[in-house]
Amino acid sequence: MQHHHRRDRPEEPILPDELDPDAAAEAPATWDVMLKRGLRKRCPRCGGGHLFRSWVRMKERCPHCGFKFEREPGFFIGAYFVNFAVTEGLLFITVILFVAVKNNNPDAGLILPLVIAAVIAVVAPIAGYPFARTIWSAIDLAMTPLELDEILAARDHLRESC
Ligand SMILES: [Zn+2]
Repeated sequence: MQHHHRRDRPEEPILPDELDPDAAAEAPATWDVMLKRGLRKRCPRCGGGHLFRSWVRMKERCPHCGFKFEREPGFFIGAYFVNFAVTEGLLFITVILFVAVKNNNPDAGLILPLVIAAVIAVVAPIAGYPFARTIWSAIDLAMTPLELDEILAARDHLRESC
């Protein structure tokens, strides 16, 4: 007959983590880590991927850590600014390149650069859309660390979806 320890009793009450904020708090990643995650279309909080249902439809929460991307209503307007800034940057580069080409070859036509600019204006915002979202998420998370209630909500969401 073996001696039995009775320490693995079931139904051991688990203390709600809400009582211990320090245990639930987390050290946020650094700015550059978060931005790199955003640039790779990944969750700024945990680095997890597969955050999109389609190219333009982002899941409400990170499937890996439960982080809710839209932290307040209208939050993703920032993503449009990121997208806009990148598109404008590319158009600006196009203009600079055209000026450089025109300097060397005064006969260079205007049609090709205009076509390139038009394609950029249409394609860049679509191609960059999911990246703009995760980049904006990273910027926001880096500027505003998660509140304890967000951490707890993320954790609860993960538990529910298990
Ligand atoms: Zn995550």
